Amino acid sequence: MFLFKYLKTTLMTCKYCGSLWHTEKEHVRARNKGGRKTIKACRACNRSKGSKAVMGWLRWVKRNNPYRWRKIRDYNKGRKNSIAEKVHRVRDE
Ligand SMILES: [Zn+2]
Repeated sequence: MFLFKYLKTTLMTCKYCGSLWHTEKEHVRARNKGGRKTIKACRACNRSKGSKAVMGWLRWVKRNNPYRWRKIRDYNKGRKNSIAEKVHRVRDE
């Protein structure tokens, strides 16, 4: 049970909003812009982000999709990683 929970929360959650549904590989930098690093992202975040850069996408979500922005902001509250830091920066703008 513990291992299952561990896998679920660390390997399968969307690194943007924490969703467990439909997580798939997301290129942090778009593949067509030379991005190789991938993280897990849910389909909704992945489709919404497209080939936008993370910061630009977060600003876009904050303005245009309050529901997703709330999920992302709350999921990253108190977290420390490169995605969370960007979320905090956009939150405080
Ligand atoms: Zn997501």
